[in-house]
This record gives sequence, structure tokens and C-alpha cells, in this order.
Amino acid sequence: MEAYVKDTISKEEELVQAYMDEVFETIVKRDPHEKEFHQAVSTIFRSIKPALVKNPAYRNHNILERIVEPERLITFRVPWMDDNGTVQVNRGFRVQFNSAIGPYKGGLRFHPSVNTSIVKFLGFQQIFKNALTGQPIGGGKGGSDFDPKGKSDREIMRFCQSFMSELAQHIGKDIDVPAGDIGVGAKEIGYLFGQYKKMRNTFEAGVLTGKGLSYGGSLARKEATGYGTIYFVQEMLKDHGFDIAGKKVVISGSGNVSIYAMEKAIELGAKVIACSDSDGYIYDESGISLETVKQLKEVEKRRIHDYVEFHPNAHYQEGCTGIWSIACDIALPCATQNEIDAAAAQTLVNNGVKVVAEGANMPSTPEAIGIFLESNVLFGPAKAVNAGGVAVSSLEMGQNSSRMAWSFEKVDTKLQEIMTDIYQNCKEAAKEYNQPGNLIVGANIAGFIKVADAMIDLGVI
Ligand code: NDP
Repeated sequence: MEAYVKDTISKEEELVQAYMDEVFETIVKRDPHEKEFHQAVSTIFRSIKPALVKNPAYRNHNILERIVEPERLITFRVPWMDDNGTVQVNRGFRVQFNSAIGPYKGGLRFHPSVNTSIVKFLGFQQIFKNALTGQPIGGGKGGSDFDPKGKSDREIMRFCQSFMSELAQHIGKDIDVPAGDIGVGAKEIGYLFGQYKKMRNTFEAGVLTGKGLSYGGSLARKEATGYGTIYFVQEMLKDHGFDIAGKKVVISGSGNVSIYAMEKAIELGAKVIACSDSDGYIYDESGISLETVKQLKEVEKRRIHDYVEFHPNAHYQEGCTGIWSIACDIALPCATQNEIDAAAAQTLVNNGVKVVAEGANMPSTPEAIGIFLESNVLFGPAKAVNAGGVAVSSLEMGQNSSRMAWSFEKVDTKLQEIMTDIYQNCKEAAKEYNQPGNLIVGANIAGFIKVADAMIDLGVI
């Protein structure tokens, strides 16, 4: 009997592997240039395999073929006029990936690197991240190859208005609810919302999240991703008998996620010793002054190297990857995808890092993740760690539809509860599928099961 059971399991495993290989080959063949999307799919496939082995319904219903194909991918021309009166043209994108459990939800990224591969990798991961939050939101993502750097306010406004002129046809509070991401902060969301409102002649606050407080935004949304990152790290540490107080922390980037991760980490007694921007990084052994970073990056939009003007004992180094050679207890990549490669991961491990938690989306290469796991570093995957942003976005949608505004404390408390639940769900799923402690497997399986079950319930969609 035992031998029979074992044979059955290994046969099912073989079938699942063959099925996954076939689906993966199809997506590579269809869009061979979409490297980041392939990377995201292969990472998720690797971790959800045990769920497919355990429940053959996912294979029988061809869930994988369906889940890797966006419900809709919209690309559009974004013409706008620069300050010299010259017409410029950028490309706009929105991927409406999966709406099985709620309206599409996910940010807009304005960065020259944005293309279909980038929006698809982000949108694909967003499906599972959103499911993991426990909120009723599907997965989407979008953006443009427009570079806001060096543009005047008026240029940014004209660009946002043109972008929304097209996007407006595809979104709505029960259809698709975009938010910010790299290059899209409160200012851009304001211009986008203004144009939507004008076009529709309706104050539909729930159509965008990350809004300003004066027109329907939620308190604590700005802080949510960074704070949520630290709440998740706290859970990881607590579970292993440690505390964040007194730990040395290195955080890449100096944008929305990084700044509020720094703020919460410092508030809880950690010492943040380095941060960066896309030119280079600063190292301040006595602890980074968050006030200076905020003034430089949030208010004056300057470069991080200017920090040393105010703190001559700090050190500035050009280039981004060098930040990972600084010895620390906790490393938080909060800037961009693939910023930690195998060499950087090995250096972090050699220097004694205890925790790596991904504030950014897909900041570690698969090789880097392998090194962290082999070295028993506590590793928090992006899907779980940075889910606080979209979770509070969902709370913002709830406040908009009930026409209520919650206090900062109420949102922050709810955020903490959500991050604790996410950690517990990932941990439980990892344990249930015989990979205790592997939060990547836990996060992917917990998110996948929720969406896959809904897809089965909804028929062939
Ligand atoms: P921002 O645009 O506010 O900040 C990005 C920061 O990263 C900037 O400081 C930027 O520098 C820096 N940066 C960009 N590329 C590099 C690089 N190669 N090396 C080092 N630094 C770099 O974006 P967010 O903080 O909003 O987003 C950061 C990450 O977090 C992204 O992966 C995003 O998808 C993810 N995320 C964001 C959420 C949110 O709520 N904002 C929610 C969930 C995930 P510079 O100033 O030079 O541009």
C-alpha cells in the first residue's frame, strides 16, 4: 500500500512538472524578449508545484495556462508637449492581469525601463500579493517609459493629463484601480485624478489610490509600504527570538518605500547606516539622518550625494551595488528589480547578514535567493514584505466608498494586523507543504490557492 501511494505521488509530481514545463515553454515562445516576466513566472512555478501535486484540480482546469495570460494588456500612445513647445511621444501600458477575486489593482510606474516585460512581471506578482493581503483585490500594473527626472512640473502635469486621457476608458472604482509606484507619487496621482475627474464629470474617489488627503486619500498610505516592510521584519525576528532594536540596517533607495522603512526602523530602535539612489550610496556609521534624506529627496528633489554636504563624516560612493558590501544585520532592498545579484548576496552572507527582506519588487535574482536560503538567512519575499502598500490602498478604497476617513492610528493598527496575518499565513502554508521557514514558498502558495480556487469557482474565465 505504502509503495503504491509513493508511486502515485511521484507520478503526479512528474505530470505536474511536465505541465509546468509546457506552460513555461509556451510563454517563452510567445514573447521571447520578456525576460523579467519569465523570471517572475519561473520563480512562482517553482514554489507552487507542491500545491498542484496536492490538488490535481488546478491542472485539470488548466489554471496555469490561464493565470499566466493577462485578461487584457493595453498599450497606447502618450503625446505631450514639452516646455519648448516640441511634441514628445511616450508609450503607456496597463496590464489587467487577473480579476478573479476583485477589481484589478496595482501601481503605475514612470521610468525609462518600463515595457511589456516589466509591467507583466509586476502585474503577475501583484495577483498573488493582493490575494495574500486578504483584501478583495485582483492584480494589475501599468506605467510608461516616460522619465520624470529633469522634467518641469508643468511637463509632468501635461504628461499625466495625456496619459489619463487614454487610461480613463479602461479604469473605474469597480473595474481597475491604479496607484503609484516608481516615479509616480502624490503629485502625479493628483494630476491623474484631476484629469479623470474632469473627463468624467464625477468625483469617483475610489478610482485611484495614493491620493492627497484633501481629495480622498487615506492617512498612512504614504507610509504603508515602508512601515509594513518593518512590521513584517519584526514578525520574522520575533518568531526567532530577536528584536529589531539595536540592529544595523542597510536600505537601498531613498524613495517612498525606503524613506518610510527607515522611519519605522529608526523609531523601533534600529540603526540605519546606509541608503542610496540610482547614482550611488551614502554610508553614515553614526546612523543616517532621516531628516536630511527627506529634505533632499522628498522636498528638494536632489541627489543622495548631497547628504555629505550636511554630514561631512558620512561617506558617498558612486554606483548602486556597493551598498551590499556594508556589514549589517538586516538588508532591505527597497529600490528596484534585480539589485542584489549572486555576488552581492554572497558578500552580505560573508559579512554576517541575518535578515533580508524585499521592500522592492523582485530585487533579488534567483541565484541571490538561493544563496540566502542555503545560508539560513531569514528571507522575506517581496510579495509578502511590501504588501502593506496595496493593503492600505484597499483600505483607502473602503474609506472612499463609505465616505469615511479613518484616523492615522486606525489605519496603522489595521496595517500591523494585516502584516502579522500575512506573515502567519506564509509560515503556515510553508509548513503545510513541508518547507517550514521558506516564506517564498509560503507566500506564493497561499496567494495562488486563493486565486486558483476562485478561478475554478467562476467557470472558464
Ligand atoms: P520611488 O520612485 O519613490 O523610489 C525609488 C528609489 O530607488 C529612488 O530613490 C531611486 O533613485 C532608487 N533607485 C532606482 N533605481 C536604483 C538602482 N538601480 N539602485 C539604487 N537605487 C535605485 O519608488 P518606490 O519607493 O515607490 O518603489 C521602490 C520599489 O518598491 C519598486 O520596486 C516598487 O515597485 C516597490 N513597491 C512600491 C510600493 C509603493 O507603495 N510605493 C508598493 C510595493 C512595492 P533616484 O532618486 O535616483 O530615482
